Amino acid sequence: MDEETGVSRRSVFRTAAAAVGLGASAAPAAALMSAATSHQQAHDTGSAGTVHPAASFPPADPVSPTGRPFIWFEPHQDDGLLWAWKILTHHALTGRDVHVVLATDGSASRIRRVLNGETSNRYWGRHYPDREGYGHLTPMSPKAFAKARDRELKAACGPLGIVPENLHLELDWRQPKIDVPRARELITRYADLYPDAGLCTMWWKDTDPCHSALGTALRQLHLDDPVRFRDCRWVVRRKQGPTAPGAVPYRIPPQLAATAHQMAKNASLAYSSWAPGRTEDDGMYAIGLHSVGSDLAAVRRGEPNWIVDKA
Ligand SMILES: [Zn+2]
Repeated sequence: MDEETGVSRRSVFRTAAAAVGLGASAAPAAALMSAATSHQQAHDTGSAGTVHPAASFPPADPVSPTGRPFIWFEPHQDDGLLWAWKILTHHALTGRDVHVVLATDGSASRIRRVLNGETSNRYWGRHYPDREGYGHLTPMSPKAFAKARDRELKAACGPLGIVPENLHLELDWRQPKIDVPRARELITRYADLYPDAGLCTMWWKDTDPCHSALGTALRQLHLDDPVRFRDCRWVVRRKQGPTAPGAVPYRIPPQLAATAHQMAKNASLAYSSWAPGRTEDDGMYAIGLHSVGSDLAAVRRGEPNWIVDKA
C-alpha cells in the first residue's frame, strides 16, 4: 500500500471503521478526511462536496477503548511493539481497553554505554557525544537512560492504539530487572485493579530472564487459580516462535491487517528518532534502533507474532 496517496488513507480508515462497527457514519468522515487533504481527491469521493469540512475533521478515531480491559505486561520499553504489535493493535481496533504495564526500568541495556561513547555498536558505530551535541549529558546515568527509554515507549503507545492514561510506567516500583516473585506481585496488583481483564506477557521460556520471569509468574498464577486468572496468554519472540511448543502465529482479521501494520510501522519511528536533548528530560536517542534494529525491521516487514494460549 502507498501511504502517500489519499486513496490509501481512505481505504485504511474505512477498513478500520467498518471493523469497529462505525459503519455508515464513518463514510462521511472518511470522505472529509480526504477532502481536507486534497480538494481534487474530495471530488473523487462523490459525496464530500455536500458536507461542510469543519463538521467532521479530524476524522473519528478507529480506536475506542471502551471494552473489556486487556493488559500487556511489558518487560522492557520496546517489547510490546517487537513481539506483540499484532495483538495490541487488534485488541485496540476492536474496542478493547488496552493497557501497558512496564515491569522494569530498562536501564540494564548495553546501549547506555554505547550512547556514552564507551563502546561501539553495529547500528551506529561509535558515538562522540561532544560532537553530537549531548556531551553535557554524559555519562548518562542509568536513571537518565531509563527516562529516555520511557520517552520512546510513550511515543510508541499512541500509534499502537494505547491512550496515554493506559500506560503504567511504575516509576516508584520498578527496578532494573524483575524476578518471578516481583512479577507475581505486579500481575496480581493489576488483576485486582481490573478483575475482568485479559492478561498477556512474554512466554515463560523466553531467553531473556526478565521476559521469562513475567511469563513464569503469569503461568504460575493461572495454574494456581485458573478461575481468577482465566484469560492468560503468552507471546513468543520471533526467533523462538517457530519451534516453541504450542506457539502459533497470531491472526488478525484480514479487514484489519493493513491498519494494524500501519500502526506498527508508525510506532517503530518512536524507536528510530535521533534528536539529542538539552536536559535528561528531553531528547530521543534511537535506543530501540541501536538495540534491536533487525527486529524493528521485521516489524516493518509485517512478520508474524507468535502466541501461546495454553499453560
Ligand atoms: Zn525485553
